[in-house]
Amino acid sequence: MTNEFPQALTIAGSDSGGGAGMQADLKTIQMRHVFATTVVVAVTAQNTLGVQDALALPTEMIDAQFASLADDFKIRAAKTGMLADVPTVQAVVRNLKQYDFGPLTVDPVMIAKGGAKLLADEAITTVKEELLPLATLVTPNLPEAEALTGLKAERPADMVKIGQALQKLGPKNVLVKGGHLGGDQAASDFVLMEDGTSFWMTSPRIDTVRTHGTGDTISACITAELAKGVGLEQAIRTAKGYVEATIRDTIQVGHGHGPLNHWA
Ligand code: PLP
Repeated sequence: MTNEFPQALTIAGSDSGGGAGMQADLKTIQMRHVFATTVVVAVTAQNTLGVQDALALPTEMIDAQFASLADDFKIRAAKTGMLADVPTVQAVVRNLKQYDFGPLTVDPVMIAKGGAKLLADEAITTVKEELLPLATLVTPNLPEAEALTGLKAERPADMVKIGQALQKLGPKNVLVKGGHLGGDQAASDFVLMEDGTSFWMTSPRIDTVRTHGTGDTISACITAELAKGVGLEQAIRTAKGYVEATIRDTIQVGHGHGPLNHWA
């Protein structure tokens, strides 16, 4: 029996509102024609207006999900999203060391756009010291990159220094997403590759509140492309284009920070 259809894994929290987290990952990976498997580490009660409640799952249940997947699937790329707290991050790290799921993209999710904390403050150090060294790629937005490096980004040029500081923490490649840098008309992202080369990706700033789940979506799209065997630079460029399209052509769902349009 062959087991060759491209398979990817998302290790993340559930967003009941369907716009971010695990659900955004599933939609994205599906749209990229890759089979998605999941390790749910936390559940949020959430809608487009915000996060009303959150619960981390027992680590035994995290271990059990990893074991089930490792027993059966041929996962070729994985990503992490919301990791909730220190025991959860440590459980995920332990399992990622035990099993080979291919290149790992770490989206160091910390705070939702509505302000809810998706990672406990104490767990930032655990992510930095234990998870980042396992990453093929880390994909922070600017507030996350600042929390991980202690550096502040005021101009696009600062993103280069932040990228270099992040790479020193262990991830092979770094994508710093500049969307939170105000003022500038364009949204520029900086990519620093393993071999020291770098490039910028710039797209026009789109004036919309319907950006819930953009971070999850870009990292999920990269993961799906990697699972198909696409090279990292091309995977990142494809993902940037995918997210841009999902923001530009929106759908009206809910009353707040609306979800992306994955059919765009
Ligand atoms: N909820 C979950 C479970 C998430 O993983 C994330 C982001 O990673 C969010 C909410 C936040 O999404 P956003 O900040 O795009 O609204």
